Amino acid sequence: MSDCLFCRITAGEIPSKKVYEDDLCYAFYDIDPQAPTHFLVIPKDHIPSVSAVNEENAPVVGHIFAVIAKLTKELGLESYRVVSNIGQQAGQSVFHLHFHVLSGRDMTWPPG
Ligand code: AMP
Ligand code: ZN
Repeated sequence: MSDCLFCRITAGEIPSKKVYEDDLCYAFYDIDPQAPTHFLVIPKDHIPSVSAVNEENAPVVGHIFAVIAKLTKELGLESYRVVSNIGQQAGQSVFHLHFHVLSGRDMTWPPG
């Protein structure tokens, strides 16, 4: 989608600090980090949020979690939180599926 910020980032039209890339997904550091380590992992295909995941596009979500497990090991992150906000009330501001990976500080529960 040409008007989607994260589609434009995966297309290289908007610069980002890349963590990892493969055919299916792209990982990059969040521009406004909420923890000492904070990156996002997104599918290259446009999916608006978790609420648009279905049997057809679900394999990329499994792939993204495998990538998160691999990257966090490589980065030496033993404890971290994976978050996906769905909808405005939950704090979603970019409507392209993304998983936040946050690490490096104490986390509170429940999240605010
Ligand atoms: P959410 O609010 O859950 O939809 O998450 C969107 C995230 O994208 C926020 O944490 C923003 O800081 C981050 N963000 C917005 N624009 C950029 C950008 N150009 N590069 C990296 N991260 C961004
Ligand atoms: Zn998009």
